[in-house]
Amino acid sequence: MNIIPLGIWGGYPKANSATSSFLIEHEGFHCLIDCGSGVLASLQNYIALEQLDAVVISHYHADHIADIGSLQYSRLIQYYLGQPSPVLPIYGHARDKQQFAKLTHSQQTRGIEIKEQQTKQIGPFTVTFCPTVHPVYCLAIKFSVGHQSAVFTADTEWSDKLVSFAEGADLLFSEANLYEEHIGVSPGHLAGSQAGKLANEAKVGQLILTHLPHHGNIEDILQEAQNVFKGPAEIAEVGKNYSFS
Ligand SMILES: [Zn+2]
Repeated sequence: MNIIPLGIWGGYPKANSATSSFLIEHEGFHCLIDCGSGVLASLQNYIALEQLDAVVISHYHADHIADIGSLQYSRLIQYYLGQPSPVLPIYGHARDKQQFAKLTHSQQTRGIEIKEQQTKQIGPFTVTFCPTVHPVYCLAIKFSVGHQSAVFTADTEWSDKLVSFAEGADLLFSEANLYEEHIGVSPGHLAGSQAGKLANEAKVGQLILTHLPHHGNIEDILQEAQNVFKGPAEIAEVGKNYSFS
């Protein structure tokens, strides 16, 4: 299993970058996790768009879905050029029916419903979901192959449910959108110390921070996580291949 961060920002991308998103690959199967602003441009540094086999969307905030329409247009243009790709499955929850309906676009993409407490087989991945605490319904996502697993918190504030969901994961990609002084002020997100606490209590192998704020020094957020979690921790690096050895 190979995981490449495509962007690390929450809310909107910095110049020439992308919001928090990941490309996950195993045995040649390519799955995109979230598709916010700038993601389509970043993705093409690693694969051609027609190589994409599936997309999983955690929730319907703009910084997680903004590039879905452009992804659908890319498939539509290939179709007009006489080089149609297979219908691309886009997995998302259906509690917001209007947003879920937008995942389906003609013959290019098809929305497939995901639910908490459900197990989906997506290519070679066994994928499970856990509801987070966020202003809109959002699912954390776990990708497993054999005994290896990677957990993506998506957007959330502290939730005990995520501790059991992430328990024993090899890799935990946790959002860390807040500095300590913003805990309780800005709802729906974690601070570095809370991402560290999650990694510590879930006994994960490695913590990687994402969905970061644009202001301040994000190294402070990493330090706050490392004050709590004594295992390996770092800020997600765009283009780095996080693979299981
Ligand atoms: Zn959100």
